[in-house]
Amino acid sequence: MLGRVFWVLAVVTTAAVVASVAISRLGLPDGIQQAAIRRMLEGERTDLFEDGRLHVFTLGTGSPQLGSRRMPVANAVIAGKEFLVLDAGEGASRKMGELQLPIDRVSAVFITHWHSDHFSGLGQILNQSWNADRAHEVDVYGPRGIDRVMGALADLYADDIHYRSQGEVERNDPRYALGRPVPIEIPDGSPGAVIFDRNGVVVRAFHVDHGHIEPAYGFRVEYAGRCVVVSGDTVASPLVAAAARDCDLLIHEALNIELIENAVVALRDAGKEGDAFRARGVIGYHADTIGVARVAAEANVGRLVLSHVIPATDNPILNRLFVRGMKEHFHGPIVVARDGQHFAP
Ligand SMILES: [Zn+2]
Ligand SMILES: [Zn+2]
Repeated sequence: MLGRVFWVLAVVTTAAVVASVAISRLGLPDGIQQAAIRRMLEGERTDLFEDGRLHVFTLGTGSPQLGSRRMPVANAVIAGKEFLVLDAGEGASRKMGELQLPIDRVSAVFITHWHSDHFSGLGQILNQSWNADRAHEVDVYGPRGIDRVMGALADLYADDIHYRSQGEVERNDPRYALGRPVPIEIPDGSPGAVIFDRNGVVVRAFHVDHGHIEPAYGFRVEYAGRCVVVSGDTVASPLVAAAARDCDLLIHEALNIELIENAVVALRDAGKEGDAFRARGVIGYHADTIGVARVAAEANVGRLVLSHVIPATDNPILNRLFVRGMKEHFHGPIVVARDGQHFAP
């Protein structure tokens, strides 16, 4: 048996070497290369805009924590003609490319708050969608400060926009290079307000409680009788439970206190006092897993998806530890999301 495996491997390896030498000498036959490009283009998920369903992708499920496979937080919602991005962490546009979501069709972006892990990919999304032939306005909704951020992006990308729209060989339309800032303003004490209503897609913004970060919002998206809520960053809060009432899907940030306390001990032992201080500090303005389960139960959601996972667990054993005790409070399905996961409630 082993002998046969050896010969199969030897033949396959030899064939691969011969093919790579031939390709490097003679070049890839035009037909093969063109077929590969056609396959890639045909793989674009334009079908998601046609089936009348609410599609949700967790593009990034991490936090600012480095050294994790999880990228900072971002979500894509495709519903009918609309392609919404809810938070825009670093790497969101690359994940869209990997998932073959047509980035040129991004129609609006919504930022929950101004912690950098929620918007450091915003410039990339706007710039790369423009480079992918986006020729329509994108509205960028954000808390107060959105005008300043969009103004800063205009400065940051000024030369790039100039190069890409001036030359003979680069002729993007500079009118669509960035996006139009739309400030979110909801009166204190309000349960939330509709901030977007187009093509059958409704987005409601609501206040959340993210400690000293003010203001901070969550979003509820409704389409075709379905609903998804993205909590943004928040402590476990009745504000989220009220906004997510009877929703099909709740994507909630989550922090496991026990795992964080262990991490703090390890960091202190390693002399990383600054990191230990920060790790301990986040407990005060993020949502512990048990609290999240209680919010999901109170809201009566269909499914609970944990994202913005702190600490960033990225193997099945740690994921199991992460959700320990939650089932006692929320009896529906609980998913520790991974980057690029697709939900169609
Ligand atoms: Zn965050
Ligand atoms: Zn935050």
